[in-house]
Order: sequence, then structure tokens, then C-alpha cells
Amino acid sequence: MLDGCGRTIDYLRLSVTDLCNYRCRYCMPEEGVPKRDHRDILSVEELVEIGRAAVRCGVKKIRLTGGEPLVRRGILDICRGLAAIPGLEELCLTTNGSLLAGLAAPLREAGVDRLNISLDTLRPARFSAMTRRGRLCDVWAGIAAAEAAGFRDLKFDTVLIGGFNDDEIEALTDLSRTHPWEMRFIELMPMGPCAEWDTHRFLPAETVLARVTDLEPIAPQGVARRYRLPGAKGTVGLITPVSHDFCADCRRIRVTADGKLKSCLHSREELPLRGLHGEALEAAIRQGIACKPAKHHLAERRSDTPRTMDQIGG
Ligand code: SAM
Ligand code: SF4
Repeated sequence: MLDGCGRTIDYLRLSVTDLCNYRCRYCMPEEGVPKRDHRDILSVEELVEIGRAAVRCGVKKIRLTGGEPLVRRGILDICRGLAAIPGLEELCLTTNGSLLAGLAAPLREAGVDRLNISLDTLRPARFSAMTRRGRLCDVWAGIAAAEAAGFRDLKFDTVLIGGFNDDEIEALTDLSRTHPWEMRFIELMPMGPCAEWDTHRFLPAETVLARVTDLEPIAPQGVARRYRLPGAKGTVGLITPVSHDFCADCRRIRVTADGKLKSCLHSREELPLRGLHGEALEAAIRQGIACKPAKHHLAERRSDTPRTMDQIGG
């Protein structure tokens, strides 16, 4: 379906929980988010019903996210239910990788087509410091399990943070030489805990191009500008929500774990979907798409949403 600005909207990011087993410093407060009654969070049936209605509105791709989607009880049932929707072309999932070692094969069997794995650093001590509780070795075990389960073309997402991981740009891009992976660098967006951080933490993704000068441009994919190192098996992606907004090409809508439709990550507008069924649910999704804002205001260091990233679904 087209939104009010003539953009095709065919991609839904569906959050299955706002809870997470990590506390990444830029994303979550140390104490985590207040645990809600499970009745406040969309049930497996509601998630699948929303997915079905979204597909009727033109959605072709659904990405499950959170919080950490793999901590959600019933995640495999959610995947099975969504994967069975006629007309859905791709079911993807974004994860911190911590629980992937045990879940990669079941996720594949449940119909997940693709995985994105967040990987902000290759240094174990740094990883534990940034996530406040994670172990990098668990993520590597998860990556191995994902490959063994048949997930191809893995994508890795690194949030670029000045003074934290900008000295690992070369090491991260190097992984694309020997692996058929896309190593993606995402600009840090000023929302949640990091909104108060000093400006030197917010680096433009072009820093990667200045550092790794032999990257050759290739065709973009989605909102990522893409590059390849000479002779590399994989690719490198840059995602620049702050320095070069891609709002004009945005095809996404989001649904939060508590059932609010957000047609823009950074907007305050939320449309409650809970309690709606059938045509009423479809009509609400269409209304949300029609009212999608033209653009966000990140260039002014301002996200208008009061929610943190884990509460929306990154
Ligand atoms: N827990 C899962 C994970 O970490 O992959 C999925 C949810 S997380 C909110 C999704 C993505 O958003 C992660 O890659 C994370 O690094 C990114 N993210 C969180 N806060 C961000 C921010 N302020 N700016 C840019 N990316 C952010
Ligand atoms: Fe959890 Fe992902 Fe946020 Fe890290 S970025 S705290 S793993 S939701």
C-alpha cells in the first residue's frame, strides 16, 4: 500500500517483547525496563493476527525484533504462525545472538528465512562492558549454529560509537573478506540513554569509508549503502539515519510489543491495535500507513518518541 507521501509500505517490524537479557549502554537503562504483566504484551495469537492483517495491507516482509526476541516465550510458535501466512515473502529476525546456539535450528524449522545479528565489538571484555552482562563467546556459538542450521547471507549490525568501537572498523570490515556476510555499520541515534551522550560518540558512517579506503561501491539494498572489499566473499553496509536520512525510501511500519502501530520509529504518534480484529484491524493499519510522517528530525539531534529502542523494537 502507498502512504500519504507515495511511498510503498511493505515491511513490518514486529516487536515480540520489550524485555532483554542484555543492557546495552546506549539502548537500555541498567535496571532494565519495568516488567509488565504478560497480559499487557501481545499474545502469540494477536501477533499472528496482526501479521495476517498487515500482509492483507501489502506487507511482504516481517522482521521480528524486541527487546530480545529470543527471550520471548512462544517465539517458535510466533514464527510458525507468521511463516504460514499466504503472501508473506520473507520472515526475518534481529537478535543479539546470545541464545542462538540453542535456537538457530528450531528457528529455521519454524520458517525464519534470515537473521541479523548485532555485533558491536569483537573484543570479549568490551562486549561484556557494553552489554553489561553478555559474553561474546555465546554470540560466536550462535553464529556457528546459525550457519550449521542453513542460514545464509548473515547480516551483522554494528552501532558505530566514537571512542568505543571506531578502532575496530578495520577488523569488522575484514570479516567480510573470508565470510559471505554483510558487515553493517549503523549510526548511533540519539534516543533512550544515549540521547544524553557527548557529541563525539555520534560518528557519521562515512568514517568507515575514510578508514577503509579500498571499499568499492555496489548496488544498495533497502536502506543500506553497500560496498565490497576487492575479492571479498561478503559485503559492507552503511546505514545512515542521522547523517543522510533515508526517509524518502522508507518502506517500514512498526508494531510495539504492547500493540501500538508506529508508522515512524521517531514519531510520537501511536495507534493502538489491541482489541481490533478483521476489517477493523486492517482499517487501523491502513490509517497508520496513510498518516506516516514524511521524515524524522534526527539531524537536529532529536527523536520525538519518548520510548527507548527496546520498547519500540529496533
Ligand atoms: N535485541 C536485539 C538486538 O540487539 O539485535 C533486537 C533489538 S535491538 C533494539 C535492534 C538493533 O537496534 C540492535 O542492532 C541495536 O544495536 C540497535 N540499536 C539500539 N539502540 C540504538 C540507537 N540508539 N541507535 C542505533 N541503533 C540502536
Ligand atoms: Fe537488548 Fe538489543 Fe537493546 Fe542490546 S540493543 S539492550 S541486546 S534490545
